[in-house]
Amino acid sequence: MTVNNNTETTEKKSLNFVEEIVTEELKAGKNGGRLQTRFPPEPNGYLHIGHAKAICMDFGIAQKYGGVCNLRLDDTNPIKEDTEYVEAIKEDIKWLGFEWGNIYHASDYFQQLWDFAERLIKEGKAYIDEQTSEEIAAQKGTPTQPGTNSPYRDRPIEENLELFYKMNSGEAEEGSMVLRAKLDMANPNMHFRDPIMYRIINKEHHRTGSKWKAYPMYDFAHGQSDFFEGVTHSICTLEFVPHRPLYDHYIDELKEGKDLNDNRPRQIEFNRLNLTYTVMSKRKLLALVKEGLVNGWDDPRMPTICGYRRRGYSPESIRKFIDMIGYTKFDALNDFAMLEAAVREDLNTRATRVSAVLNPIKLIITNYPEGQVEELECVNNPEKPEEGKHTIEFSRELWIEQDDFMEDAPKKYFRLTPGNEVRLKSAYIVKCTGCKKDEEGNVVEVYCEYDPESKSGMPGSDRKVKGTLHWLSCAHCVPAEVRLYDRLFSVENPSIDERDFRELLNPDSLKVLTNCYVEKFAATMKPLDYLQFQRTGYFTMDQDSTSEHLIFNRTVGLKDTWSKKNK
Ligand code: ATP
Ligand code: MG
Repeated sequence: MTVNNNTETTEKKSLNFVEEIVTEELKAGKNGGRLQTRFPPEPNGYLHIGHAKAICMDFGIAQKYGGVCNLRLDDTNPIKEDTEYVEAIKEDIKWLGFEWGNIYHASDYFQQLWDFAERLIKEGKAYIDEQTSEEIAAQKGTPTQPGTNSPYRDRPIEENLELFYKMNSGEAEEGSMVLRAKLDMANPNMHFRDPIMYRIINKEHHRTGSKWKAYPMYDFAHGQSDFFEGVTHSICTLEFVPHRPLYDHYIDELKEGKDLNDNRPRQIEFNRLNLTYTVMSKRKLLALVKEGLVNGWDDPRMPTICGYRRRGYSPESIRKFIDMIGYTKFDALNDFAMLEAAVREDLNTRATRVSAVLNPIKLIITNYPEGQVEELECVNNPEKPEEGKHTIEFSRELWIEQDDFMEDAPKKYFRLTPGNEVRLKSAYIVKCTGCKKDEEGNVVEVYCEYDPESKSGMPGSDRKVKGTLHWLSCAHCVPAEVRLYDRLFSVENPSIDERDFRELLNPDSLKVLTNCYVEKFAATMKPLDYLQFQRTGYFTMDQDSTSEHLIFNRTVGLKDTWSKKNK
């Protein structure tokens, strides 16, 4: 499946509000019919599913309307940024199925931004403030109360220039001064109350080394970077709505008041993706990783792209989910169950069907000849017959799931219980004859007899039995470890909870089963291959799996048992 760029189907589907804006502007010939977007992650962490929503918008809209989307690494803060993150970001975008035109860096524009700031100082539009950040914050006022001017606001231009140079030369200490735009301390938009343009950070930058010590703030870098690159639509999330006037203002200044309506990037905002039972803040995700509360950024419980990949989600299922939730102008919380439903729907068409027994108990077919082995055929994927078949061995001693046998079963129990008949998938109908227990009364073996005429495909096989069980031949299967994942957090919306997010982690989010078996064919799979363990769920081989120690991750169960359990 490719990204939705098939005009036949997309025309039928209604456009989202960003697509509506873009199509109207293209029709009107705005920007000379050009469409250019950017995806601007800060390389201070791994991408999460929220970023996937932005990626699908930024890259998707360019692809759909013949434009270009560039990757811009928003690297204006050397404290938290790292090349490890840059590489991971690129890998994740490609895996999701998108391609960028160019790769740019906000740091490419440090000189241009510096020159622009210098010009604003010379024009009396910016000043160096030597107050502490607390003092500056205290003067900001509130949305209903004007702020107070800084005592440094009217210092001479020459002095401002001199100090600005010191900010970058190492002569001024970190935190001792900032450059602020001289705008309006009474503006109802708080972002206009003399916003900070530059601050000092004494740390090597992963690209520019020690060349710079003064670094531009997000608001002083983002719009200008868009402008320098020729971005036509700067699409971002709703929290940037109040920043938009400042975004426009700096670009007006950059254009020196000329041709203000031409060649201007337009900022458009959509709602963030928030998912139940997880957090999306990179600060919190980083804390989970650093404090060892999860096993790295790609822990399959993490909402990161690499975590979902390792868990066995397909890129198509993530895109399908994002398509389902859509783009609006109102923030909302999206149900994790919806993401899982999209994954299930997608994997149903993709996954190779294999057998695995996660909680084994032995089933002995007492009337089946000892030493006899039959090779049975199994369809790899009933949704895709072209993917063929594989064989599985059947013999006298099998593993079945513990909960597929009950000695004293209720009436509607259609699995193995003394006197009851079930079908062993792709094999025979068997009738339960009893079990053996240890001294403590635990069932250790289950017994049955098979009907030799009932083999799947034989004339005698169409006899109706209510239950079908999966199984593995004890002598022909392979031991494996299986990791079952559940919600990372035990509360629906950890971000609004008053307690520390660490206290809200679900203690049962990872369950490791070490005594499982899989059929041989499953052991030939590779990490990231999509599998369905019959009757159990979707799984994939973990990247740490070896032929001596097989490890499988549960991607998602076959049914949404979780939301029922909790209602
Ligand atoms: P954080 O504040 O946690 O560091 P961020 O939003 O600043 O995250 P960036 O790397 O700056 O992360 O984000 C890059 C792009 O992805 C931005 O355009 C941002 O709006 C978008 N984005 C980030 N989180 C989400 C989300 N949850 N839903 C949709 N878009 C998002
Ligand atoms: Mg950011």
